[in-house]
Amino acid sequence: MSSLLEGQAAVITGSSRGIGAAIATLFAAEGATVVVNYRSDGAAASKVVETITAAGGVAIALQADVAEEEDVHRLIDTVLQRYGRLDSLICNAGIVRDNLAAAMPVKEFDEVLRVNLRGPFLAIREAIPSMLRARAGSIVNLSSVHGDSGGRGQCNYAASKSGLQALTRSLALELAPRNIRVNAIAPGLIETDMTRSIRQLSPEDLSHGIPMRRYGQPIDVANAAAFLCSSRASYITGAVLHVAGGLGL
Ligand code: NAD
Repeated sequence: MSSLLEGQAAVITGSSRGIGAAIATLFAAEGATVVVNYRSDGAAASKVVETITAAGGVAIALQADVAEEEDVHRLIDTVLQRYGRLDSLICNAGIVRDNLAAAMPVKEFDEVLRVNLRGPFLAIREAIPSMLRARAGSIVNLSSVHGDSGGRGQCNYAASKSGLQALTRSLALELAPRNIRVNAIAPGLIETDMTRSIRQLSPEDLSHGIPMRRYGQPIDVANAAAFLCSSRASYITGAVLHVAGGLGL
């Protein structure tokens, strides 16, 4: 039986932990050669690579800050030199700097926009030429339900994720004639390091506010990403797939 992503080369930004690590691990299990991108935690990225390799998969770790143009150029160039192809790009790296707007230093606003919006733009721009030549490719951007609803104390984050949805739709239009698909995933509340403090500091159990009454797991998001990058999603572009247990409805 063939695997869902057999023969693909895939780059997952920010995949040394959390949702990115789950996507990298699942993509490798589904037959893709995986590039585990990290910004600073090389040891964690190596662990993800080790786990994949131990399970019989193929992966390498590559350092790059997604907000830095030179880094992103080097990342994608290395992948193309090494594998000669790039089939799937998952723009997963993201940060939060939560604060009420009146108290938010402009630095915190800019940092979030740089990583969450400029980062995907840079990576996609680097990936497009080889995908155009191949007349194939799948790009998945990690947005958020807060990109639709907004979020108190998250004007920077929500704006970045809403912007990422607009970027997704614009590029889906631009690239559809060349068979390059661009989609987004909007996760709800997923159990990762990013959400630990809000889950732990909140006086009530936040999962009670989720229609499915549980937090999402990284694998829930990874399954959606694998589907979107597979041939089973070959007519889907410009979509925002909510993986949120009903949160935001
Ligand atoms: P996380 O904080 O656990 O992981 C994010 C990863 O991105 C980390 O490995 C981090 O080092 C990396 N990263 C940050 N800045 C980077 C940079 N400049 N260059 C390269 N890598 C960088 O977060 P997560 O929960 O796994 O979230 C993954 C994505 O999903 C993010 O884009 C996040 O906004 C989105 N998301 C998460 C949730 C959730 O509930 N966890 C909900 C909605 C959306």
